Amino acid sequence: MSGRLDGKLALITGAGSGMGRAMTQRFCQEGAQVVAVDISGAQHDVADAVGPKCLPFHADVSQSQDIQAMFAFVEEQLGGLDILCNNAGIQGPIVTTTEYPEDDYEHVMAVNARGVFLGMRYGIPLLLQRGGGVIINTASMASLVAFPQLIAYCASKGAVRMMTKAAAIEYAEQNIRVNCFCPGSIMTGMLTGMPEDYVQAVIDANPVKRVGTAEEIADLAVFLASDESRFITGSEIVIDGGYTAL
Ligand code: NAD
Repeated sequence: MSGRLDGKLALITGAGSGMGRAMTQRFCQEGAQVVAVDISGAQHDVADAVGPKCLPFHADVSQSQDIQAMFAFVEEQLGGLDILCNNAGIQGPIVTTTEYPEDDYEHVMAVNARGVFLGMRYGIPLLLQRGGGVIINTASMASLVAFPQLIAYCASKGAVRMMTKAAAIEYAEQNIRVNCFCPGSIMTGMLTGMPEDYVQAVIDANPVKRVGTAEEIADLAVFLASDESRFITGSEIVIDGGYTAL
């Protein structure tokens, strides 16, 4: 199927890699124009690969000035916004709570939680100008069940899940749908950097005996971005191969 996002104007953060990259590619294939945002520089490679429907932009989502400049770019280049995907995120160190460096705690919360807050804080006015729109926040199964040695990550994703619900009820009558999805283990930059035995343990722990792909996330994101999901708001959609059902 194609054309499910025909004429839509979208912005995706963390678009240089993994899920954000796959979402950017799929959204453009489905007819959207996408501003692809990342801190790494890889957003330019994505735009080169996707073509003129994709415009790269450099921003650190934890910084208010960057987020405001990002939406000014959207207004200037696209003339508005229909779909906002707050997807950029980092895992942070894997250490016990009593060893967890305070700076890392602040950094993980700044990117994962404040980044989503700032995205909604400055992005919602653009959606309202168009009479409504869609927000998709990337949470995690770590917003639903706990993982040891990832205290800041779990806290930040719990915040994303609840900010999604708070914004959804605030803006429901103004025609903005706000949802998040909660991925389990997905083969992206976040997992490819891990030791092989760690990845194997993750695969073994999953009922479906594999990890997910960024393309499977992009399929879900297209559904959430399109009118096919028009009665879904304030929800967390779990996409984890059954992990949290155990
Ligand atoms: P990834 O590392 O491949 O992609 C993350 C992207 O975000 C990178 O391109 C990175 O440069 C960018 N980024 C990081 N900090 C940024 C910042 N401050 N400003 C702008 N961009 C920044 O990983 P991914 O798995 O595609 O991650 C996407 C989202 O999915 C994240 O929010 C992550 O927490 C979430 N998630 C991932 C998994 C998984 O198993 N991979 C599971 C659950 C949730």
